[in-house]
Amino acid sequence: MLSFSQIIGQEKAKRFLKQVMAREKMPHAYLFTGIAGVGKTSMAKALAMALNCDSPVEGVSCGNCPSCRKMISGNFPDFISVTRRPDKKNILIEQIKDLNRELRFAPVSGRYRVCLIQQAEIMTVEAANSFLKTLEEPPPGNILILNAVDPRDLLPTIVSRCQRVSFSPLPFKDIADWLIKERDVDKETAEVLAKVSDGSPGRALKMSVGNFLEKRQEWLLSIVNLPGLSKEKAVHMAFEYAEKDTKKDTERSGSNQTGVPAMLAVWESWYRDLLVVRAGGPARLLINADFSHKLKKIAERFIIKALTDSVLAIDQAQQDLRRYRNKKLVMENTVLKLKHLAGAPGE
Ligand SMILES: [Zn+2]
Repeated sequence: MLSFSQIIGQEKAKRFLKQVMAREKMPHAYLFTGIAGVGKTSMAKALAMALNCDSPVEGVSCGNCPSCRKMISGNFPDFISVTRRPDKKNILIEQIKDLNRELRFAPVSGRYRVCLIQQAEIMTVEAANSFLKTLEEPPPGNILILNAVDPRDLLPTIVSRCQRVSFSPLPFKDIADWLIKERDVDKETAEVLAKVSDGSPGRALKMSVGNFLEKRQEWLLSIVNLPGLSKEKAVHMAFEYAEKDTKKDTERSGSNQTGVPAMLAVWESWYRDLLVVRAGGPARLLINADFSHKLKKIAERFIIKALTDSVLAIDQAQQDLRRYRNKKLVMENTVLKLKHLAGAPGE
């Protein structure tokens, strides 16, 4: 997805970028904010392509000129993407120093060089500080874009130097239609994926190619069956999920759509659905609408407080995992808490 027209939704961001491109002097630093998979990276590429196109029409790249073709094939020399090294948790100061050096040379194309910092929030403080001067006043011909989920995760000195462009989660229906029309996903699957994607087309797409749907069935069943398990079996299940996940981390097999964070997100959606049912909310609000029959049956067994506490327990687990707490311990605590809240028989 490289041209503006191929990015789904985000009309406000597109309009804004086309406007700034038309200005005599285009601002040089941008902060793209929004959830993962919502189109921030595609938009940065679309901007690079439009800025360097030989014959753009109303701010949209032609797709045929030499520079457009290079951009499409991923060989455009003036598009730089900075991301964390695979074995590191952060973007390091060395990487930013290298970048600062590189930006001093004029763009190869003679037009604009676009430099994208992926996940700007994982820059170390030193890295962020060494980027401040460049961000304030980059050498001519450079456009800097920082991607981040939430601007509050960045140093205020970084945020204040950038033009902010926010990306909104997409409506469920837009994602479903897009999966059906552009990605050949069947209607039923598209609707499930669109609902569990939380408004992120990128996430929905990733889930459509992996075995996420099978995994989701398995996770939902495991949470449904949890109250009936003995304490030992519940702990065993928690450890098994944590271990599988750790193994996957080390193998780097990629797909984060089937790991523990994805499972916790599905569990959370389950409890939110139970809350909707318990509170007598409309069926269209259900995320796991394909399980509505089971949801109705199970919701009756819960008091509302137990459901909100379950959501909180899962939130806490997600936070603990982001902070790299021991995965096995986090999973054990969470599963036992959820089991307790579900009123396990024989306890
Ligand atoms: Zn072109």
